[in-house]
Formats: sequence, C-alpha cells, structure tokens
Amino acid sequence: MRPSQGKVLSLLRDSGGMSRADLARRMSLSAPALTKITAELIDLGFVAESTQAPEASVGRPPVNLGLNADASFVIGLHLGPERLSAVMTNLVLETRQAADVSYGETPIDRDGLIDLVVACVEELIAREKTPRTMIAGIGIGMPGRFNPIGEIGIGNTNEADGHHHPFTALLEQRLGIPVQYDHNAASIALGEIHFGAGRGRKRVLYAFFAAGLGAGLAIHRPRERATSIRAVEVGHISLDLDGKECRCGGRGCLETELSEGALLEALGKISTPPEGLVAAMMDNEALWAPRYAKLLQAFTIAVNLIVPDIIIFGGHFGTAPDAFFEAIRRDLPARVLPELRDRLELVRTSFRENASALGASALALERFVYCGLGGRMS
Ligand SMILES: [Zn+2]
Repeated sequence: MRPSQGKVLSLLRDSGGMSRADLARRMSLSAPALTKITAELIDLGFVAESTQAPEASVGRPPVNLGLNADASFVIGLHLGPERLSAVMTNLVLETRQAADVSYGETPIDRDGLIDLVVACVEELIAREKTPRTMIAGIGIGMPGRFNPIGEIGIGNTNEADGHHHPFTALLEQRLGIPVQYDHNAASIALGEIHFGAGRGRKRVLYAFFAAGLGAGLAIHRPRERATSIRAVEVGHISLDLDGKECRCGGRGCLETELSEGALLEALGKISTPPEGLVAAMMDNEALWAPRYAKLLQAFTIAVNLIVPDIIIFGGHFGTAPDAFFEAIRRDLPARVLPELRDRLELVRTSFRENASALGASALALERFVYCGLGGRMS
C-alpha cells in the first residue's frame, strides 16, 4: 500500500463512502490523478463502487466509492505477563478469529515466545483458510515501561521505533509477514479513535485499568499521514511525595493505591469478584472514597496537560457500574480548565473483550494499510 492509497482508504474508512470528486477535493488532487489511485485500489479489491439511486432522483446517480472491509486482514497480538492473546481482524477491526495461549508454568524465554507466537499466527491463518498474501501485517501490543516481557529481550516500548527490533525481525523472518509493535494502551487508543467510541474526535485518551493503571493518547490530524500515539503514564503521577514505594522507583504514585493488586489486597480477595473490581470497591465507601479522590486528582492533572476531547475508560473501568460514570462525569469536568469543562466526554470503552489484541490489530491496520507503510515484505 502506498501513502496515497492509504490516504484514500482512511478517508473511506472515516466517511463510510465518498464520491471521486469529494476524494479528489479532500486530497487536493486532480480528477485524473485521483482516478488513477482509485482504479488501482479497485483492482486490488480494497475499494468497491456503489451507486445509490434515490427513486425521485433524475439523471445518473452519483457513483460512491466504499471500503471493501474484507479485502485484507491483519493480526493483533497482546503479549501479557502470563499469556498471549491474538485476533485476526478485517480492515474495520471486526474480529474474524481469536486465540488465547498461556505460557504455562515455566518462565518463557525469547525463543520459546517466538515459537508460541508463530504457532498461534499459523493457527489463525489456517482456521480462516485464507492465503497468507491476505495478511497485511501483524501488530504487537505490550505493557509499558515496567514490562515483565521486556526482561526476556523483546524490548521496552518506550524506546521502540516500532520496528528494526531483534524480536520483530525474528518474527518477520519466521512468518514472512511484516511486524510492528507499540505500547498496548496507546494502541487501544488508536483502535478507539478509528473504530470505537473515539470516532470523529481529535484527541482521545484511553485509560486502561488492568494489572496497572496506564493510558494511551491518540491524536488524529486529518492532514497528517499517520495518527500519532503515545503512552501516558497516568498511574505514575505521584500524589503523595512520601507515600508508598512504587514499582517505578517513585513514591506515592496513583498506581500504589489503584491497581489490580492494590485493590484485591484492600478487598482481601485473590481474584476479581464476579460483579467486577470497581463495583466491589464502590460497595465499600471507606475503601473507595480515598482512592476515587486520588483518581480524580491524577486525571485532573492529566486532562489539563493533555487536553483530550474524550476519555475512554477500559479494562476494569470498562466493567464498572453506571454509578462510576455518573460520579466521574459529575466530578472530573468540574475540576479541569474552563475551556474543557463543558466539552470533555467520559465514556466506557467499545472493547470489552480482547482490548489489547484488538488495539494491536488497529496498530497493524494503521501502519500497514491506512498509512501506506507497505504491505507484505517482498
Ligand atoms: Zn510509580
């Protein structure tokens, strides 16, 4: 996929369909130049023509171009501390296949992990009965800076340029499919801004409450080729300079009070209660109130610095009761800068299951299809 082709595809993705004239205008191209690009995309099967003929219309109905969502697939992988999850999706992030593999009891090394990933990807391709040439690329989402997987040589997502890393290079060699990786919450933010609750917004902050409390920011500038993403370490905003020691080496970080481990310990439980972690906490006012206050404090700081249009809450926040959203919609906008107060949206994630793997798929779609970084390796 070339950048100009990717740009046409992303305009069709965002609009749901457009005429050639509108596409040419949006891309500042002449009609013949645009027609050349769309003819290539129709040949490749990525774009299809449709005529919408309203009954009352007179003359020739306009020809609209639309995205053929099943023209190509990508694979998203989440490499967590204990297991890997994988999804195969189409061009609009609809899941075709999914798989989940536990690393087992023994600590896994890099070669062992590569074997597992290769087997998992091959299984998805076999199950879909699709030719390998249909797979545009693979995205990998990983937990951030304090990443247990990083210790076995996959690397630190904060230092990544997304490729040219030994781990992704080895995977590319074994699979013959291009691979990129990035931070998982940042990748999910990318999924939300193009295919989920963040559609149509310019600055999406996705807050991910899982083992830790992380976030990712996606910024969509229609004139730029790529949607930029980055990790936001909201869990490591220090709210108490003399507070508990955090795994980051700092003290009093939000995450020391608000992480899966910290909440389960406070609740005296070993696994997430069936009603959900946030619901269980909210039932106990004495446990919840001080933590909720810190959550508000950290997000007030983050919002004023980052200026998002919307915060999308996922992970354990995604399964939180409606009362959580009522409370935060009442309390957070009231505390942020005035220009944000009336327009900041706070919503639940679109990705209730497999969020990290779907985010990784969104990463692959962005890099290998919509930005036109290139499809398969030759
Ligand atoms: Zn910390």
